[in-house]
Amino acid sequence: MMGVRLDVIAGPCSAESRQQILETAEGLKNAGISVMRAGLWKPRSRCGTFEGVGVQALPWLKDAKNLYGLKVMTEVALPSHVEVALKEGIDMLWIGARTTVNPFMISELAEALRGVDIPVFIKNPVNPDLPLWMGCVERLLRVGVCRISLIHRGFCLLDNTPYRNTPLWGLVDEMHQEFPDFPVYCDPSHIAGKRHLLLQLCRDAIAHHNDGLFIECHCCPDKALSDAAQQVTPAELNKLLAAL
Ligand code: PEP
Ligand code: MN
Repeated sequence: MMGVRLDVIAGPCSAESRQQILETAEGLKNAGISVMRAGLWKPRSRCGTFEGVGVQALPWLKDAKNLYGLKVMTEVALPSHVEVALKEGIDMLWIGARTTVNPFMISELAEALRGVDIPVFIKNPVNPDLPLWMGCVERLLRVGVCRISLIHRGFCLLDNTPYRNTPLWGLVDEMHQEFPDFPVYCDPSHIAGKRHLLLQLCRDAIAHHNDGLFIECHCCPDKALSDAAQQVTPAELNKLLAAL
């Protein structure tokens, strides 16, 4: 599948329906992917937009695990998300950029994760503030969470052209120097905002010695209820990975 040794986590921005999850899961399995991401609770800027289906998607993710042998991963932003994810067999968690910015929220999430041995991926905060990202890692380490990975999803600057969020590779290098044991993943989807920029960003991630990709993949990207323009089909993902 790939000419390059990168760990790849892929899946839809949001879980939308059982059909969408299973069709995507099958495609991911065929593309050689073993961990599927899918957002249940979506932090959306505007009120009244699609905010995720929540716990309704848990049985769909269980089916994806059972039918295709995938591990599943979702975003947690509240202690109640952590509790339900742990109870319902979610294998890995990620903390989103809008949560990493908030030390109070991170402390609450950390309490919910105290003593729990589950991989947690931490996205960079929305703004280019390294201490916020570091503080999030430290608050998790303090409660005994140690299987931590970092996700670079780009930063919101005044002008992000041509991206949705500007990649700051040097800042990520600094973060990696502070926490050299933690793998660094690139999320080219949220950096790009548009699928035609993905390939070059994946190449940039490799050039910067990233350990993995965290990438959005949907069975019907154009019909996606969130982040439609940046998602690719499993077949397109397979092609993209082959091109690396
Ligand atoms: C996501 O991964 O779908 C997401 C909401 O990402 P971010 O926190 O990077 O905006
Ligand atoms: Mn998304």
